[in-house]
Amino acid sequence: MNIIECKNLTKEYLSGENTVVALNDVSLEFEKGEFCAITGPSGSGKSTFLHVLSSLENATSGEVIYNNESLKNYNDNQLSILRRRRFGFVFQAYNLVEELTGYENILLPIMLDKKKPDEEYLNKIIDILGIEDRLSHLPSALSGGQQQRIAIARALANKPSILFADEPTGNLDGKSGREVLSLLKYVSKELGVTLILVTHDLHVAEQADRVIRIEDGAVVEDSKSNQ
Ligand code: ADP
Repeated sequence: MNIIECKNLTKEYLSGENTVVALNDVSLEFEKGEFCAITGPSGSGKSTFLHVLSSLENATSGEVIYNNESLKNYNDNQLSILRRRRFGFVFQAYNLVEELTGYENILLPIMLDKKKPDEEYLNKIIDILGIEDRLSHLPSALSGGQQQRIAIARALANKPSILFADEPTGNLDGKSGREVLSLLKYVSKELGVTLILVTHDLHVAEQADRVIRIEDGAVVEDSKSNQ
């Protein structure tokens, strides 16, 4: 079953007098629970793809279909509720709130949604990510790898169906990066969360079930179609 798909997605940016075609007629389908890496050289359109697929940015043309429903009919408010409740985001920068402890950062999306935390579920994520003893620390007292683990827990707090990750290991040293990647992979499989991850790093991409390569805004390779 497809959890999300896109049809003929195109994204153009105006850059001075010129139009940059960052995404050129991309059509893809993602199955529920799969771990897919989007790879390609710098400037090829990977981040743009992630942003448009996850409705952080509007497409110039084409459409995104989530759970068999086109997002074309969603207004901005409906899109932001969808992102808050059904999607989780992990970026290269951890984007933690510096004044809040690790645990408060993790709770933030639940609080913003005015929901009650599911303690049992949160404890399970915290346990898998190995951050029990980091919860009362402020981000400034945590290493990069620890901050990213808190950011992953925060992204999972609202029980999303899709986790979008943009170069999540990009700021980490090799060892911490590998640990964070294997945790991301493990936690998404354990929870059945679809993981769509952008990386220029082929060592990262080879951990995925499926690798899609983008060049000049277009899909040039999809390991799924080789199977
Ligand atoms: P990648 O993530 O593969 O490095 P991006 O998606 O960031 O690539 O960028 C794809 C292309 O779109 C690049 O040529 C980039 O300069 C351009 N681009 C991205 N964002 C913007 C923007 N906000 N305004 C203008 N051009 C942009």
